This record gives sequence, structure tokens and C-alpha cells, in this order.
Amino acid sequence: MQTEPLQTPLHCPGTESEQAGRDSACEGCPNQEICQSRPKGPDPDIPLITEALKDIRHKVLILSGKGGVGKSTFTSLLAALIADAEVDKQFGMIDIDFCGPSLARIAGVPNEQCFGRDAKWTPVYAESNLGVMSISHMLPTTDQPVIWRGDKKTGLIKQFLTNVDWGEEGLDMLFVDTPPGTSDEHISLAQYLKPSGGYGALIVTTPQEVALQDVRKQIDFCQKAGIPIFGIVENMAGFVCPSCGGKSDIFVAGTGGGRALAEETGVPFLGSVPLDPRVGMCADSGKDFLTDYSASPATLAIKNVAVNLLTEMGIELPEYLEEPESAIEPAQQTVAV
Ligand code: SF4
Repeated sequence: MQTEPLQTPLHCPGTESEQAGRDSACEGCPNQEICQSRPKGPDPDIPLITEALKDIRHKVLILSGKGGVGKSTFTSLLAALIADAEVDKQFGMIDIDFCGPSLARIAGVPNEQCFGRDAKWTPVYAESNLGVMSISHMLPTTDQPVIWRGDKKTGLIKQFLTNVDWGEEGLDMLFVDTPPGTSDEHISLAQYLKPSGGYGALIVTTPQEVALQDVRKQIDFCQKAGIPIFGIVENMAGFVCPSCGGKSDIFVAGTGGGRALAEETGVPFLGSVPLDPRVGMCADSGKDFLTDYSASPATLAIKNVAVNLLTEMGIELPEYLEEPESAIEPAQQTVAV
């Protein structure tokens, strides 16, 4: 199937400029409406944010074109796997999907409340070296809805970037779980992270064309907003039966899936991760999927993504991620459904 070519990211006037959303280069940009309505001029808090981020060496924005692609689950597993592999380093995750926060529950810390120290918030630790900061740690109950817009969301993003006590040594890597699509939050993040450097996006999709269409918009957004893209991950690429280990394709990659999209757009393809129902079962029962099912196709696929991501970021691989191929479970037979 022929796919639409990406729009060329020419001459974005800058999301904070007076011309944002109104320039001829903005015609057809997925952010046009948002950029038109945002306040103009550089955010006066950017120097403060840049100063606060100087102790966070790498920032990975996790994006998805649409909801329901398993972005938060994937974020949690990827961060936990890298944190396990680098026990001497510190890692963090923040959830800026304020209206649908799920990262804390998936990371196994749904009910804990964060507390303050020296006027800063202390994150909740899912692992000894992996802190989590989510609005769900501030709500009286996990069922409480959050209905926020504009300035209030932007204010909390700033707080999450400046007001969390990650410890004396800061963080080696911060994973930022974002809402699906392209929104005010994404544009704000791009503005806040750019001056401190060391950041980029990892885009999560599922294999079918309807999801890939939204990813094209997301790639276009990143290019327009000047966000480097580390790569694309294809999630839910097949279903692994927990009983027999057989793999079936539930979302058919009619146009070649994430790999073909990566080739089409020139973005690195970081790997495919199959759907394994035991991931959700472990999250619900407080078990550690990566440890309990360390040789499962999903764990090995996430490990493969971690290797490719760190390589793209120019980070030396920890020993655990350099294990020989023989340690990797053979690929399961794929059957059509
Ligand atoms: S991101 Fe798009 S709409 Fe916003 S200023 Fe740049 S080109 Fe214009």
C-alpha cells in the first residue's frame, strides 16, 4: 500500500516564536492549532529548568501516535531492565499523562504517596535505583479523576522537572512517559529539555497501518519541534501464548509494520516486542515479570530494544546486555490467526 510522504520539516519558526502556528511553514503541521494558542516568547522558567536538569544526564521521551499501544507498560519494563543491568547507576521515570496516569500501577507502586523533603518531592522507588514520579502519588485515591488543562498541566511538568529530589548524584537516565498523540505537553517538554541537551524520543507503535499513520504525524512533530528521535519500537507485535509459548499475530502489519515505517522515514528501528498477558498479571499481583520470565520472548525482545536504544544514544553497554546470543531464547513459531 502506498503511504503518504512525510511533510518536510522546513523552517519551523520555533514553537515559542511570535510566528508559531501562523508561519507558512506551519501549514499542515499537526501542532498548528496548539502553537497558535500557546503564549509567545521564551518561557521565563527555562533557565531554572535547565539548571535543575544538569544532573540528569540522559532524557528519553516515550511517545506514541495513539493510545492503547502499551506505551506505559513498555516504558516501565524498559526502564526496569536497564536499571537492573546498571545497578550502580540511578534511573527515574516520570508520568506526565496526568489525565490517565498508569505508570505507577504498572511499575508496582500504585498506592504509595510521595512525600516532601527540603521543599522537594521524593519519588517512590520501584527498584532501589529506579524512582517513579506520578500524579497518582499525590492523589488521595487512585480512582480520583484528574481533569486539567493548559497552564495547570504545564505547571506540573515544570515541577516534575525541577522539584523532584532524585538524590545527590542525580540520574543517569530519566524516562518521560507522555500522553498519546501530540499536545501542549509535548511542545512544552521540547522547549524545556532542549537547552539542557542529552534528550531524544523513542516512539512506540503497534504494527497495523492505522497506528502507523499516527506515528508518521509524531515523527513529523519531532522533526518540526527539533526533537531528536532515537528510534521506533513496535509493541504488541504478536501474541505469545503463556501455555505453549507459540506466537500469533493479532495486529497484522499490512504495510510492513514498524520496521517498514522506520525504513520509509529514515528513523532507526529498535525492535519488536510481543504481547504477553503475563506482563499484566505480574503488574496486578506485584510480581516482577522480567525476573520471573527472564527467558520469555517479551523479556528478550525488550532486552534487544535496550541494546539498540543505548547504542543509538552512544552509551556503552553494561555487561548484562552484552550476553552472547546463545542466552537468547530461540524465536517462537509464528502462526497466522
Ligand atoms: S511546531 Fe509546527 S505549528 Fe508549531 S511553530 Fe513549528 S512548524 Fe509551526
